Amino acid sequence: MSNFSTNTNSIAPVGQPHFYYQDQTLFVEQLSVKALAKEHGTPLFIYSKAALKAAWDSYQEAIDNRDVLICYAMKANSNLAILNLFAQWGAGFDIVSGGELARALKAGADPQKIIFSGVGKQTWEIKAALEANIKCFNVESIPELSLIQEVASSLDKKAAISLRVNPDVDAKTHPYISTGLKDNKFGIAMEDALATYEHAATLSHIKIVGLDCHIGSQITQIEPYYDALERLLKLMDQLRGKGIELAHLDIGGGLGIRYQNEEPPHPRELIGPTLNVLQERGYGHLQLTLEPGRSLVGNSGVLITEVLFLKDGETKNFAIVDAAMNDLIRPTLYDAYHGALAVEIRDSQTTTYDIVGPICESGDWLAKDREFALIAGDLIAIESTGAYGFVMSGQYNSRPRAAEILVDGNQSFVIRRRETIDELFGHELIPTIS
Ligand SMILES: *Cc1c(COP(=O)(O)O)cnc(C)c1O
Repeated sequence: MSNFSTNTNSIAPVGQPHFYYQDQTLFVEQLSVKALAKEHGTPLFIYSKAALKAAWDSYQEAIDNRDVLICYAMKANSNLAILNLFAQWGAGFDIVSGGELARALKAGADPQKIIFSGVGKQTWEIKAALEANIKCFNVESIPELSLIQEVASSLDKKAAISLRVNPDVDAKTHPYISTGLKDNKFGIAMEDALATYEHAATLSHIKIVGLDCHIGSQITQIEPYYDALERLLKLMDQLRGKGIELAHLDIGGGLGIRYQNEEPPHPRELIGPTLNVLQERGYGHLQLTLEPGRSLVGNSGVLITEVLFLKDGETKNFAIVDAAMNDLIRPTLYDAYHGALAVEIRDSQTTTYDIVGPICESGDWLAKDREFALIAGDLIAIESTGAYGFVMSGQYNSRPRAAEILVDGNQSFVIRRRETIDELFGHELIPTIS
């Protein structure tokens, strides 16, 4: 690492050795970001395979060969190449749509490691999942349970289910990504859970296999998980009393990552103690399942953008860049912080900039009040964009979606080519109206 004196935006992903400076220029693994941007253009998402593997290994280390299944919540980043890596490493997948099911299967997922979450599953999606023989549906309501029974019956199959219960704990995260509170749309209320299980046990084409919860996202404290676990254990005791036995317990995803100065728990702080509690309480035989998304991919990616113009306003200075809220919506949607790094550090006077895109909305910003020494044509790396980055991108203002590349050592691979202008309206039709 070299001179940060002219760039006060430190590298946020602490302990992330795959993004670093060499002679004042940013590298991903062994490749220069500037060279990659020149070759592939901007805006450009770059992912580090070594960083993905390190995140995966942090879970494996915590699991230590015990019966724990990691179902990667693929909505965080569903590029086929990335799914394929996780599938090779032995991951299962947490899906939330029929489209994600198709993607996961295309990427080589083992259907027996796929769990299907989401509050609005449709008939065709349930049918496709049953035909693929997935591991489990995480059922979020009684009408959904009835629909799964009906579809399974029509296919003459038994659907393996768990109920996603809402433990009503505060995950202490952003309201849009907090999902375990009473007034969220997610899950079955704790007080209805026992009766719903008893009802499920009477259904001819339903097989109860698990219990599930997911309390939120970007969780940076461990306590909410243990609060939820206590409530789940209480329910499990009640289920046992009714003769309903489970095969797995799914404690969801949600572990946070470092965007700025957060210190989220390591998976080992969650997995080991949870297994110990299960053991102590007579549930040591259950498989533990987790659904991490962000923590597996978030800090493995950066978004590279080029400075188009510098604009000095009366109260603010703007760096207008070629990436925008259509490429990365988290800042404007959640008021989220992303680190921003100069791809080449200049040894000159710095100025405070807001980094903004070209879209006709004041909400089109990527980072605020950052110190940079910049000139037009410079490149900026927006950090921690491996999760909920490209997948939430769109084409607003008729902007083609960015390219994605994967770096592995000294090699780079295009894993999604940049959209073309023709593709923007390739699905549209002008009717002949006389
Ligand atoms: C989004 C989601 C996850 C993953 O959350 P992260 O915060 O990305 O780990 C897991 N389970 C369900 C049901 C989800 O909706």
